[in-house]
Amino acid sequence: MSHIFPRHTLIQPPRIAGGDGVYLIDADGKRYLDGSGGAAVSCLGHSDRKVLDAIKAQLDRIAFAHTGFFTSDPAEELADRLIALAPEGLERVYLVSGGSEAVEAALKLARQYFIETGQPQRRHVIARQQSYHGNTLGALATGGNRWRRAPFAPLLMETHHVSPCYAYRGQQPGETADAYGLRLAREFESKLEELGPDTVMAFVAEPVVGATLGAVPAVPGYFKAIREVCDRHGVLLILDEVMCGMGRTGTLFACEQDGVRPDICAIAKGLGAGYQPIGAMLCSGTIYEAIAAGSGFFQHGHTYMGHPTACAAALAVLGRLTDDGIAADVAPRGDRLRAALEDRFGQHPHVGDIRGRGLFLGLELVADRENRTPFDPARKVNARVKRAAFEAGLVCYPMGGTIDGQRGDHVLLAPPFILDEDQTGELVDKLGVAIREAT
Ligand code: PLP
Repeated sequence: MSHIFPRHTLIQPPRIAGGDGVYLIDADGKRYLDGSGGAAVSCLGHSDRKVLDAIKAQLDRIAFAHTGFFTSDPAEELADRLIALAPEGLERVYLVSGGSEAVEAALKLARQYFIETGQPQRRHVIARQQSYHGNTLGALATGGNRWRRAPFAPLLMETHHVSPCYAYRGQQPGETADAYGLRLAREFESKLEELGPDTVMAFVAEPVVGATLGAVPAVPGYFKAIREVCDRHGVLLILDEVMCGMGRTGTLFACEQDGVRPDICAIAKGLGAGYQPIGAMLCSGTIYEAIAAGSGFFQHGHTYMGHPTACAAALAVLGRLTDDGIAADVAPRGDRLRAALEDRFGQHPHVGDIRGRGLFLGLELVADRENRTPFDPARKVNARVKRAAFEAGLVCYPMGGTIDGQRGDHVLLAPPFILDEDQTGELVDKLGVAIREAT
């Protein structure tokens, strides 16, 4: 009997024993193609020599020293590199251990910024339905996934949710993408006005929605319109790139493709690529200066922030992504995977939509493709896809979401960036088997 408290008390997962490039190997020697990078984590696969060597070298120097007493070379170098690569305006880095921590830090920084600049009445957060920002209480409150929030509702801070930018289900027949984006920005502005614009501190969104909707990018112009509304009302724009950042969508930061600059940006998963747990919050010089000129102290912190071993890993990951050109390959490899998916599932009766950017792609599974009717939730199609894919030797990330009380079933694909042509074919073949068995 295992004494681990598992994610699911009724399922005993196989034990992982090894990794080889894009493959995971269990204790029985079965190989699984990692089609989702875990949950968009393992962007370099599972045996990247340079990252492993960097971790080992750091362990030989010093594994950990508390940031209350010391900074470290890897933390400083990582922050320098991130800022050199980040969208203009982001000037400081706060290093944490994962995505939820990065989002919590972002929320608290926004709140403290307004206190220090004489606007303590700004406390409301507006985010979007069907979003996911993490599982700690602040991040969970910010997210708009009703199922995840429900049991903990009494513990959650007050947040407000507007519609996601989800063209497949939200864009009206005859409505252009521009008009749709503007309609959503107006909805956001109406929510601001309802709350009192000077009581709102931040709008929080994933540039490409990951876990809840399965790789849904915004329509062109949406984020620019949202940015304009934020600017008009002095509201901070917090972008959560925990899943879609670090090259996953074809640019190092996903928001580069939307032409917007956030005031605060959260990153995590691909930053450590699974080799170490690490996340980061990047913030504008304006926010940093306000706190530096005020209390001089961001009232937050975690024991393992800026962990030298995690920073050494992330520094090596960034080196692989940028110096070794791996991130530059994401767009063409993503195009190849997308073309293979279109080819296989473009006319499939149960695949309603194929979407995403780079190597962050999603399929929406439907009972009826013509009128986009979702499957009956009782069929648990997403769980069946996951199980059938796993049996076929493919790890993918199916999720169910809700919109207007409806359910949607999605499969998220976020394979390592090193996925080659044969492996692309293998992924699509195995997914085909899983979808056939599950639908
Ligand atoms: N934000 C987004 C967009 C995520 O997808 C996730 C995790 O899936 C998180 C935050 C939370 O990250 P973590 O699980 O590392 O706490």
